[in-house]
Amino acid sequence: MANAQPRRTILIATTNRGKHREIEAVMADLPVAWADLSDLPPMSDCIEDGDTFAANAEKKALHFARLSGLWTLADDSGLEVDALGGEPGVYSARFAGEPRSDANNNARLVSMLAGIAPEQRTARFRCALAIADPKGILARADGIVEGVIIDEARGSNGFGYDPHFLVPSLGRTAAELPPQEKNRISHRGKALQTIRGPLLRLLDNAPASS
Ligand code: IMP
Repeated sequence: MANAQPRRTILIATTNRGKHREIEAVMADLPVAWADLSDLPPMSDCIEDGDTFAANAEKKALHFARLSGLWTLADDSGLEVDALGGEPGVYSARFAGEPRSDANNNARLVSMLAGIAPEQRTARFRCALAIADPKGILARADGIVEGVIIDEARGSNGFGYDPHFLVPSLGRTAAELPPQEKNRISHRGKALQTIRGPLLRLLDNAPASS
């Protein structure tokens, strides 16, 4: 819940309650009531067919803003591995095909990096955020966290590629970090911190509405 009296409802373009909670925590002092897709009647899906995380985030934010009439915050994120020319990139969720499986994606990642030296296993998680109203994009932000891909899975927190993503400055994989610590250093956490200021200014300048 927001600390201040909500002046506007903002839709988060996700059904993932974990993401909803993370966003609400970073934005706790803004005068916003946060909703996600599971709080509203079902709406048609957005086809995420952009070439970049930013294009997908913008498309998703506009899609759901137009359908709901609400300001909408959308994110798109994934892993870029330098030795794979930036793959899996926007295909991170379905790197090993359908049905989507973190275990299969990680197995494919490790096998594609077989024989690659540790110093050439640099990678990053990238997150793009966009906020839209039904007429267009209001704000954008990006966040990245740098790491290296390791063969051995370590840790049981997080999701996706976390067990193979070592953050060298911490000496731990993203799956070995407690959620709060991961949120502080993560691509999504950084993008959220970056978009906070522009969102606050938008709220100050726009007439109140829900
Ligand atoms: P989404 O943008 O949250 O749907 O994430 C797309 C895909 O990128 C996920 O299915 C994961 O495979 C990967 N991904 C995004 N963020 C993370 C993360 O923080 N840890 C691990 N994998 C991630």
